[in-house]
Amino acid sequence: MQRLPEIAIIGAGIGGLALAGLLSRQGAKVTVYEQASAFERIGAGIQMSPNAMHVLRALGLEPLLRQLAFEPPAWSHRVWDTGEHLGDLTFGAEAERRYGAPYLLMHRGDLHAAILSAVPVEVIQFDKKLVELVRHASGVTLCFADGSRARADGVVGADGVHSKVREILLGPERPTFTGRVAHRTVFPAALLGDFAVDTCTKWWGPDRHIVVYPVNPRRDEIYFVTSVPDPDWNVESWSARGEMAEVHSALAGFHPDVQRLLDACPQVHKWALFERDPLPRWSEGPIVLLGDACHPMTPYMAQGAANALEDAAVLSRCLKGAVDPAGAFKRYETTRLQRTARIQLTSRQNTWGKTAGDPSWVYGYNAWATPIAEAPALPA
Ligand SMILES: Cc1cc2nc3c(=O)[nH]c(=O)nc-3n(C[C@H](O)[C@H](O)[C@H](O)COP(=O)(O)OP(=O)(O)OC[C@H]3O[C@@H](n4cnc5c(N)ncnc54)[C@H](O)[C@@H]3O)c2cc1C
Repeated sequence: MQRLPEIAIIGAGIGGLALAGLLSRQGAKVTVYEQASAFERIGAGIQMSPNAMHVLRALGLEPLLRQLAFEPPAWSHRVWDTGEHLGDLTFGAEAERRYGAPYLLMHRGDLHAAILSAVPVEVIQFDKKLVELVRHASGVTLCFADGSRARADGVVGADGVHSKVREILLGPERPTFTGRVAHRTVFPAALLGDFAVDTCTKWWGPDRHIVVYPVNPRRDEIYFVTSVPDPDWNVESWSARGEMAEVHSALAGFHPDVQRLLDACPQVHKWALFERDPLPRWSEGPIVLLGDACHPMTPYMAQGAANALEDAAVLSRCLKGAVDPAGAFKRYETTRLQRTARIQLTSRQNTWGKTAGDPSWVYGYNAWATPIAEAPALPA
């Protein structure tokens, strides 16, 4: 009997951990290498759409997430100053019936901790910043910043938007700064007094917007994220601080409900928004990319992490029982490329939910049911 390949995952973010959990469940040999020494609880919300929930369900996390998360009746889209309703993406029981899974809003830290709980502790190694990959006839050597090395038969780069693995495979990237930034924060609803935030709302201004929602079923923590022009700021980092005065000035004239929110909010972080074109390929032999490493997208459809989760599910299916990681990686890449490119390009337009349209091509996707593509034939 041929031995099962040893898979190394670079990055213990949402996509890398989900893949580690799924592979562990199917008895694969897997190790995750994470550059950080511990995880920080980043103050941000995250939307988990039904297509993402199918994957989290397979990790056994649905009951926990239903307890931790807020299930909104809808994602409302409103005009920035008058508050007029442009339309609603309806969630709740109706979405669950249609898509077979709920639409949940939660704290990003709660989601990360939940996925971490589905991964055996011995599988993750911290303080392992990947700096180089060396390919051999029979596998890959991983080189880390601390001077240590490891070997694997297949390597998955789940190392996020600034992926080292992508740079090794495809060379340095040149993203385009959109000239826009996202301010984001989570703060106690108690600071809002008697003003209640009871669903997910996007307030659409002429060239800027703000999205607001609660991140737990008690609705006692509120998240918001903006997208506003700011051509002089281009730092893509979860920890960079912004100023509330800037947010007030950027959203001056927005509806009184938005002003109440901003008046109550003590602090924000700031993330520059970059655009990247879909990549032509994600793998080369025993090395492949997953999540933001291969399809980073603007946050306007709330689909980046959802697509990292879909990747993890499809890749775990391709690797099940496979003795050759390279073949499995090609099948995964071929199965996923077209969908993620379409979502990347649609997200960039920033029109999701504003105009009527059927969202089921995004939310109705089930990574466990989608057909796995054959790898393209190699040139003769
Ligand atoms: C403002 C904003 C709002 C968003 N809202 C949503 C939303 O509502 N819903 C949604 O689905 N998506 C959302 N996204 C997108 C989502 O955050 C990302 O798509 C998702 O985090 C990508 O997951 P990942 O696992 O690919 O990468 P990450 O979660 O970034 O994880 C990468 C990991 O790799 C590690 N790493 C990096 N380099 C190395 C190295 N050299 N060696 C070892 N480890 C390394 C990092 O430390 C990190 O732990 C949003 C994004 C932004 C910016």
